[in-house]
Amino acid sequence: MLNLDFHPTGRHFLQIPGPSPVPDRILRAMSLPTIDHRGPEFGALGRKVLAGIAQVFKTRHPVAIYPASGTGAWEAALANTLSPGDSVLMYETGHFATLWSKMATRLGLVPEFIAWQGEDKDLPNAPSWRRGVQADMIEAHLRADDGHRIKAVCVVHNETSTGVTSDIAAVRKAIDAVRHPALLMVDTISGLASADYRHDEWGVDVTVSGSQKGLMLPPGISFNALSPRALEASKAAKLPRAFWAWDEIVAMNKDGYWPYTPNTNLLYGLSESLDMLEAEGLANVFARHQRWGAGVRAAVQAWGLPIQCADPAVYSPVLTGVIMPPGIDADAVRLRIYERFDLSLGTGLGKLKGRMFRIGHLGDSNDLTLIATLAGCEMGMKLAGVKLAGSGVDAAMKHFAEHAAPPLAALQR
Ligand code: PLP
Repeated sequence: MLNLDFHPTGRHFLQIPGPSPVPDRILRAMSLPTIDHRGPEFGALGRKVLAGIAQVFKTRHPVAIYPASGTGAWEAALANTLSPGDSVLMYETGHFATLWSKMATRLGLVPEFIAWQGEDKDLPNAPSWRRGVQADMIEAHLRADDGHRIKAVCVVHNETSTGVTSDIAAVRKAIDAVRHPALLMVDTISGLASADYRHDEWGVDVTVSGSQKGLMLPPGISFNALSPRALEASKAAKLPRAFWAWDEIVAMNKDGYWPYTPNTNLLYGLSESLDMLEAEGLANVFARHQRWGAGVRAAVQAWGLPIQCADPAVYSPVLTGVIMPPGIDADAVRLRIYERFDLSLGTGLGKLKGRMFRIGHLGDSNDLTLIATLAGCEMGMKLAGVKLAGSGVDAAMKHFAEHAAPPLAALQR
């Protein structure tokens, strides 16, 4: 039986690609007493987090904050803008893109789910889902849609199931190239505040995100960043919505309040997270994740194991998928690592189950956390009988030593 009273010494290594480790500073901020969500103190908190989160999305337009996980914000994006029977063009980058398209079907929409259909020359029997959105395929589909049946294009920016990012600016360009009026909706649940993201500049109509990844918060809040076109579309959209409806939320948010009880303590945490991101500077935050991703990939390459992302141009700065050799069950390896070293790694999701595991490099981490994580992976894989070409830990140490992080003083303003 699981003994929940037993805690091993030291910190658990939560190296899954979200929920990510929460900094102590944020945990402390969330432990403050809950206040009256209709009182003046709350209004100030609400206004602060709403203004701060807009900066992280890089938008001048409203951001709706929901007391819900990311899945809720997916539903909000679709339910606020679309009508029953509408066609939506969705791109199969991985498990999360697949779940979003299943949700669209449940809501009475008609997803056209397209995927890259090539062969992997480097790894002929490789599992699929190794590339980002091919903007030219989106363009071709929209070009063929003379009657503008397609009402929205939905893509995942950082596919958490694979460690592959997608070029959102290229998707916008593809839509514009054929002058198609479809809305652009993007899931950056695991990309926000770790990977560069620009809601306004990239012309995104609805961006969906969540708290438990780059924002370094526990799960429990999620977001819809809006565009004026999305707000306009919501006036004519016929899918039923009540809790998710933007109109009342946006109206009450003007004064820092919500039409229902928001999760006050998570908003304390969000306020702290925004302070931390602002002090470091978003450009530094993105560079830090890029460095971590490169260090972890150096380790995987030294082990001689394939990386799930087959296109170096779109490697995720948030997580790396490691493909196991044939005959090795990735989940058995993960279990070994968890039991021996108190280290959690991400499981393979959907059709990648058992084929690969995922190393998260986000949240309250640093170079040494990642070296320890890689040491846990290396020891555990050896114990599980995985043949490694060399030491990934050595390769990552070399990488981090040669690519120094900016000195702490340089980050302090
Ligand atoms: N989309 C992506 C890219 C995700 O990574 C996740 C969760 O990990 C979701 C959607 C679903 O979000 P949630 O589990 O918070 O409902």
